[in-house]
Amino acid sequence: MYLNGRPYDALERVRLPQLHLRQIQEGILRQPGSGSWQIFDSTLRTEEYDMPGIAVHRADSIGELAEAKGVDPSGLISMVNDFNASTDRNIPFDPTVLDGRAAHVSPPMSNWASPIETGSFSTYPVTCGITFTFGGLKGGLEGRVPDERGPIQGLFVCGEELDGLCSGNYPGGSGLATEMVFGRRAGAIAQFPTG
Ligand SMILES: Cc1cc2nc3c(=O)[nH]c(=O)nc-3n(C[C@H](O)[C@H](O)[C@H](O)COP(=O)(O)OP(=O)(O)OC[C@H]3O[C@@H](n4cnc5c(N)ncnc54)[C@H](O)[C@@H]3O)c2cc1C
Repeated sequence: MYLNGRPYDALERVRLPQLHLRQIQEGILRQPGSGSWQIFDSTLRTEEYDMPGIAVHRADSIGELAEAKGVDPSGLISMVNDFNASTDRNIPFDPTVLDGRAAHVSPPMSNWASPIETGSFSTYPVTCGITFTFGGLKGGLEGRVPDERGPIQGLFVCGEELDGLCSGNYPGGSGLATEMVFGRRAGAIAQFPTG
């Protein structure tokens, strides 16, 4: 990831990105224009971006890519070359663990380093969006919405409208997990209220 003219190693900073999505997003929002861009070479997976309407620049060299993005080509080429040269290629890449496959650059990258060297190269602008609000009605373990006297008969909450699950941060997958867990509970009770 390339932010404000400098490399930004979000993975190094947070180590377990699925538990620190919010911190990565905050880093992006603090940049001029609240944006960043990601660079891939042809060996890296870009399927998630392969769809109509996605803005992408493709080029045969990092220098051409830099020119297309309006940044200093020599700076970006030098940064990518340093990253590639410092990557420990003897350790197999394993995205499921902290694999120790490092790139000895500043800031350092201790895991999952993959050289960016095989053209063509792609870059995608990224910014932040709202994936869920996690802010709405308070619910008990069964999704019943209470007032000061206790659960309100026949009123349930689940999914995005359920408040109080997370604050300050959220683990990846918590949106769909809470929809399934509380949706199932609330649905079962609503269908069989005396069961
Ligand atoms: C880009 C993006 C990426 C995400 N990635 C992840 C992820 O990786 N992992 C994760 O866990 N979560 C992720 N989420 C969050 C997750 O998708 C949502 O939290 C989840 O889909 C919300 O489920 P829900 O049932 O509460 O609401 P919804 O899925 O929004 O369902 C509400 C439904 O109600 C319908 N509806 C609205 N009004 C009415 C009406 N008046 N009458 C009848 N029907 C109506 C809507 O059409 C909709 O089908 C992501 C969200 C976004 C936007």
